Amino acid sequence: MCGARAAYLFNQWRQKFPANFGKVARIKNTVMVKISISASHDGGNIQFLSQSPLTSSLNDVTCTISLSIRPDVYTESERCSHMQYFSFRSFVSGLDDGVTSITVRYEIVNASEASFPYAWPGTTVCYSTGSLDASDDALWKRNLTTKYVDGKLAWRHTHQDNGSTFFSYYPPYTWERHLKLISDCTSQVVNTARPLAEYNPTVESLGQTAEGREVECLSLGKGRLVGWIVHRQHPGENMAEFYAEGLLRRLFGLDGELDRATKRTLEKFRLHVVPCMCPDGVVRGHIRTNGVGANLNREWGTVEVEYEAPTLERSPEVYWALKKMDETGCDFFLDVHGDESIPHVFFNGPVETPKWDERMKALQGYFVNCYRRHNSDVQKEFGYEPPEVLNNPKVLNKASKQVSNRFNCLGLTLEMPYKDCATNPDPERGWSPNRAKGLGRSLIEALDGVAGYLRMEGEFWREFGEEDAFVLPRLPEGL
Ligand SMILES: [Zn+2]
Repeated sequence: MCGARAAYLFNQWRQKFPANFGKVARIKNTVMVKISISASHDGGNIQFLSQSPLTSSLNDVTCTISLSIRPDVYTESERCSHMQYFSFRSFVSGLDDGVTSITVRYEIVNASEASFPYAWPGTTVCYSTGSLDASDDALWKRNLTTKYVDGKLAWRHTHQDNGSTFFSYYPPYTWERHLKLISDCTSQVVNTARPLAEYNPTVESLGQTAEGREVECLSLGKGRLVGWIVHRQHPGENMAEFYAEGLLRRLFGLDGELDRATKRTLEKFRLHVVPCMCPDGVVRGHIRTNGVGANLNREWGTVEVEYEAPTLERSPEVYWALKKMDETGCDFFLDVHGDESIPHVFFNGPVETPKWDERMKALQGYFVNCYRRHNSDVQKEFGYEPPEVLNNPKVLNKASKQVSNRFNCLGLTLEMPYKDCATNPDPERGWSPNRAKGLGRSLIEALDGVAGYLRMEGEFWREFGEEDAFVLPRLPEGL
């Protein structure tokens, strides 16, 4: 999309020449090093601004590339144009025995104008020389030189090979990959000879987005309880769809036979899983909105006089999901997100809704503790601090609050970090796609554990032990 083209002429005496923009030519006795930037891949987002002239030192050449994040479509409800997510590809050519590497200082110059600038400190940029296919998920690493200084997010990277390197706020989960996931699950649905058939798996489109993409819902299970799990209302929170992939692969037996915990859970629940709520925003490389500027997680109810939500024009994704939920009912709801600032996996429950009471508190506590016992990335001490006003109907435009209140059920938002996960730190990889997939897989045990209490009457929590208690979360120090 945006091309950075500069040619560096390096003669046999290593004499420096000024950068030569736009020229692609091989001159006798010269080596040409070129780096160009693009964000035209599915879900890409960056604007190329400039490249400094290349300078040389021994076998390495150096330059600075200035970039800016492209904002989402204007959001009427919040009166702003969100931005934070970026994803681009650097392509290097011309390295050879004479010039063996190019060191680039990348700087995003409008980082201070992002939706959450306070989240940049502690952020490490993700990079990979692999492809965007699932087979290369494990190749993503973190650039540990990343710093937020003078309003810019900057990092230094030495390219030692010709070819491409992706840089991304979080590894992309492309729309192409989404289609492959739907196709893989569908192949299990249509194969009635498989053991999955007894759980009546289905795949359907809830409806189309403003730009004509399907919002698919995959359902299975023969239990009395109804569970809904939706992902990626905020399209730049890619970890949410990695999570969906982990969950769906286990539920649909894509990696082998259904295990015992999965079978038990499918005996208790009918589950409805929406792996991607915001396809248009995904393709556009947005952080928070769909193609017409709606922040979907502010579209689940009308809370302002002059702002009706959801509507078919602005937020059809939510309109269709809520319509289907009204048909099926709901006993458990999970809305999967990523959080830019807090370096932990954490939950935000029905606190602030009119339904917040001892029962809700106990259900949230029990569920989170079940989850924690099966996945050590889950913790309960850190998260958003509850506000002073605990009953605030204005929060009912958010998915988990609306659904929890509407169906008097446990409804939670799950947040995963963009940064490293401080609960189990791994600076070199941070909160990786594989960790997000693993967290999605572990949801099964947490569902299995909490199922019996979701609609239990009476003060059932009196039998819970201390270790199952709800803990009022607090912000980590310094945030
Ligand atoms: Zn979100």
